[in-house]
Amino acid sequence: MAADGLHATALAEQCSRLFPCLADRVRRSKWGLKVALVLLHVIFVGVLFLLDADLIRKTKEEPWYTAIYLGFLVATLVQYFFTSGSSPGYVVDAMRVGNEMCTTSVNSPMLLNQSISRNNSFTSSMNRNQLGRRNYGMNSSSWLKLVMDLYPPGSSIRNWTCTYCNIIQPPRSKHCHDCDKCVLQFDHHCVWLGTCIGQGNHCRFWWYIFEESILCTWTVVLYIDLLSSKIIKDWWKELFVIVLLAALIFCLVFLLLLLLFHSYLVLTNQTTYELVRRRRILYLRGIPERVHPFSRGICKNLYVFCCSRDGKYSMEAVPTMEELEAKARPYTCMDIMSCRCC
Ligand SMILES: [Zn+2]
Ligand SMILES: [Zn+2]
Repeated sequence: MAADGLHATALAEQCSRLFPCLADRVRRSKWGLKVALVLLHVIFVGVLFLLDADLIRKTKEEPWYTAIYLGFLVATLVQYFFTSGSSPGYVVDAMRVGNEMCTTSVNSPMLLNQSISRNNSFTSSMNRNQLGRRNYGMNSSSWLKLVMDLYPPGSSIRNWTCTYCNIIQPPRSKHCHDCDKCVLQFDHHCVWLGTCIGQGNHCRFWWYIFEESILCTWTVVLYIDLLSSKIIKDWWKELFVIVLLAALIFCLVFLLLLLLFHSYLVLTNQTTYELVRRRRILYLRGIPERVHPFSRGICKNLYVFCCSRDGKYSMEAVPTMEELEAKARPYTCMDIMSCRCC
């Protein structure tokens, strides 16, 4: 018995050495969810190919149809892993990029490029490839100055210091307790993906739920075809397919609502956290619900959302009272003609 116990321990140690992710409970549960998600896809699609003789016949006659469907399935799973492995944009990484650039070049050509966007909201971005106009030594005091400049004058440092990471958080950042890091433009922590959704991967997340919605719709159509063709003779098989179809429709409704919700967030430059916890965020308190303080117009919001690149971190300033008043002003005919909303 004792020898069996020793063997089991040795085997567990060997497994942990070969697969380090299995040694950590948090990483183990993350991988468990990923395996569960892949299995769910395999089950839903596999049942179709097992029971739908028509689909098999169609595959032989027109292989491209099944090839496109299976290709889309693979693309969705690839997008899932791609999003899951992407960085949401950690505040500490933004600081490190600044530090690296500062130390690798004494005459650092650029750490910071500050520009005033069309609606006068102040945007700061750090980019390895760009040459900037101002030169900052990115140590903690520079970071402090840079970040505090983004808050309204007179803001207290204490309000914006993360007590877990001990760093000053730029506006729109939040500490994630699952990742144990502060995230730029924190949206939410996605349990299914096992990562935070923030500035760095919100776009990828949108594409993932878009692809998943299309795949789900396509699979629902194939299941309805299967049931209406009356190919299945056994009642229990039919019942099983009906249960799977009901689950698929439930997932589809959820995915479509999620896609709509995130599309609305993108168009108005908001995050889930800002929308849900608006009253808890100091600088958003008192701003009317219909005013989106960080919105730069639909077109600019879409452009920034789709075209932000890896390795580039951007931080937005809290709008001034004048800017907020301008955003709160009701639309006139002139505003519509001049595309103020865009
Ligand atoms: Zn933190
Ligand atoms: Zn997180």
